Amino acid sequence: MTGSGTIEVHTVNGDIETVLLTEEEILRGTDRVAEEVTRVYTGTQFTVVSVLKGSCIFASDLIRRIPIPLELAFVGASSYGEGTEAGKLVVNFIPSEKEIEGRRLLLVDDILDTGQTLYRLKAELLKRGAVDVKTCVFLDKPSRRAVEFEADFTAFEIDDTFVVGYGLDFDGHYRNLPYVGALRREIYEQARPGV
Ligand code: 5GP
Ligand code: MG
Repeated sequence: MTGSGTIEVHTVNGDIETVLLTEEEILRGTDRVAEEVTRVYTGTQFTVVSVLKGSCIFASDLIRRIPIPLELAFVGASSYGEGTEAGKLVVNFIPSEKEIEGRRLLLVDDILDTGQTLYRLKAELLKRGAVDVKTCVFLDKPSRRAVEFEADFTAFEIDDTFVVGYGLDFDGHYRNLPYVGALRREIYEQARPGV
């Protein structure tokens, strides 16, 4: 305890340099994608497969705007970043056989960057017996693509800037920001090397 009576609180908001997408803009984009998804899947059985951890916020807002029956499943995947083997994807967990076989799946991810994650996950789910796999992303950075891959549904296209918030992290933090923003330079510079 100090005698000053004030404690300086470090908020995640204070680490943001610029806001790229406000909460309102995000929800308008999510509404539009939800309508497109609803149109495509009306009259069919389908399962939304949220790619953890990044897509948890987008997927939860998205499914609450889709007024037709759907099931929900999760897949866990992580890609190694710079400094390690490029494009190496680790699938930490995958839905059970009965949640995949013979099912129509909508894979939902936070961001389509090089394309490796969704390209590989889609192939894996088809190999395990899904009849159809479509993809839906919150953000798309088309300029970064390393494999030929396009999402079936996209909420927003952005330039090649590293962004955080609304599920997207930097070193495990900032997923809880309700908007999408770019971090202040000092934050990167303070980070552990290789992160
Ligand atoms: P891809 O396999 O398409 O290259 O990579 C997708 C993954 O890379 C995303 O799910 C995300 O984890 C990470 N990623 C790519 N760009 C960004 C970004 O701008 N911000 C954050 N936080 N993660 C990113
Ligand atoms: Mg991810």
